[in-house]
Amino acid sequence: MRGAVLYAPGDVRVEERTDPTIEKPTDAVVRLAATCVCGSDLWPYRGIEAVDRPAPMGHEYAGIVEEVGGDVRSVQPGQFVVGSFFASDNTCEICRAGYQTSCIHREPVGALGAQAERLRVPLADGTLVATPDLPADELVPSLLAASDVLGTGWFGAVAAEVGPGKTVAVVGDGAVGLLAVLAARQLGAERIIAMSRHQPRQRLAREFGATDIVTERGEEGVARIKDLTGGLGAHSVVEAVGTQESMMQAIRATRPGGHVGYVGVAHGVELPGEELFFSHVHLHGGPAPVRRFLPELVDLICTRQIDPGRVFDLELPLDQAAEGYRAMDERRAIKTLLRP
Ligand SMILES: [Zn+2]
Repeated sequence: MRGAVLYAPGDVRVEERTDPTIEKPTDAVVRLAATCVCGSDLWPYRGIEAVDRPAPMGHEYAGIVEEVGGDVRSVQPGQFVVGSFFASDNTCEICRAGYQTSCIHREPVGALGAQAERLRVPLADGTLVATPDLPADELVPSLLAASDVLGTGWFGAVAAEVGPGKTVAVVGDGAVGLLAVLAARQLGAERIIAMSRHQPRQRLAREFGATDIVTERGEEGVARIKDLTGGLGAHSVVEAVGTQESMMQAIRATRPGGHVGYVGVAHGVELPGEELFFSHVHLHGGPAPVRRFLPELVDLICTRQIDPGRVFDLELPLDQAAEGYRAMDERRAIKTLLRP
């Protein structure tokens, strides 16, 4: 099969890879309808994370089950499925508490390389969620978005305790930040402030439910959020970047007693203990347990109540994955969808 492999920073190639097979009775093999490039794929692409050997890329996937192992009960060949970037049993104590990305049996899908024609999904019963019927083709991008960016934005909003009557600020205008705006609206937020200085992204944020746009960053951005909230700060702030600046911007834009949901993968973030102590801000985040939300998200998509697939503003054949990475790296695209 064809699949994307990262050889070195900036060097993504689509080449022949070994076809996946059932290795354990709990596995499924899925033929991918679509896959995509994640903001987190850009860390190794930019050389910020080390690339020491050719690595299959991709951890977002949706498609049709081709084959299942002998112990798989909840999905069968022919069904359309979506799964998260960590395979999980969905039965251990941690999973049942809603933290499937910390499952005691978790397996990272990224190591298997979902930017490919086919994917082996471990722990298929716990990991995969089937759609009620074969979805119309125009729903595929939204179902793919549920695999990571929607689920991650959703968790960011839930972790930030977004709810009716609340003012929410979102730091980061990538796909996750934009979908945190969509999540905040679905969860009933009264006011949603998107922090972005890129016009196409501001427009999409408004379409997803943002009521205000703040273009300033850092301390100026914090001051703008305070201006908009009677000097108090937002009740809920979603951090969807993962840098020191964005994390401190999120914490300082939150009012005492408020909540930060942080879902940007932290790179070099160090928190000042004394400032945190006096801030009275709750922090909760981490790798989003997307599996917790998948049944609800798949239902919202299949009943056409939400359309998160609009974050894909570039669609390419899988063979042009390298251009998909370049476009995101240069911020010409918000998110690239790849068709195997
Ligand atoms: Zn588990």
